Amino acid sequence: MAVQTKSGSIFSAAELLRSKGASEVLAWADAQFGASAAIAASFGVEDVALIDLASRSAPRLRVFTLDTGRLPSETYEVMEEVRRRYGISIETYFPDRAKVEQLEREKGFFSFRRSVPERQECCAIRKLEPLSRALSGASAWITGLRREQSVTRLGVEVAEIDAAHGGILKLNPLWAWTEAQVWEYAREHALPVNALHARGYPSIGCAPCTRAVAPGEDVRAGRWWWESPEHKECGLHSRRSPAPEGR
Ligand code: SF4
Repeated sequence: MAVQTKSGSIFSAAELLRSKGASEVLAWADAQFGASAAIAASFGVEDVALIDLASRSAPRLRVFTLDTGRLPSETYEVMEEVRRRYGISIETYFPDRAKVEQLEREKGFFSFRRSVPERQECCAIRKLEPLSRALSGASAWITGLRREQSVTRLGVEVAEIDAAHGGILKLNPLWAWTEAQVWEYAREHALPVNALHARGYPSIGCAPCTRAVAPGEDVRAGRWWWESPEHKECGLHSRRSPAPEGR
């Protein structure tokens, strides 16, 4: 499905955006969609970089986060710092209360460690359903995904059609950034960063499903570390439709 933008279809937009920097991609999103586009932030350093870039070039974009109920306290600390520094409202989306209650009463508090399907069940309740609500009515969403992050993200494009959420546009302005570039940007702009990064957590999710990684280990090795690498996604980013080359 082709998404129509003010300047044509997503396919021509994808061609245009491949040659643009992250700031220009955000400015384009702001011009095209304004407040009907939103940055999805889990408050790792990439997301804070996106919010910082947007504060300069794309001020109408909204910021939302999925508060799963299992986030580390360090994530709330950086969320609050970001909220104050940029003077923005961070839209939190919680899981459905009844579903979490049922899950915990029937399966306990660590069912996600028993098998991939049970981990996916927890992610579906705590992340996927709230994400669907967050994106309901949105024209586009923006993430801090980078190709370099893991084997599951090698195919990330700057612009994709998100078939799982009604064919809306998904933009990944940092798609081609390296980890070194992200940190250079963070230092240059003195960004507030999640304290867990300095303790060996390059990728930060829910507290019980994230650990520090050893030097040289894959960036996402600390996420669901008991699973094999090809399973290490929570479903938020697993069903994209890349805009085809040359269209
Ligand atoms: S990351 Fe872990 S705790 Fe968080 S939603 Fe997924 S399985 Fe549940």
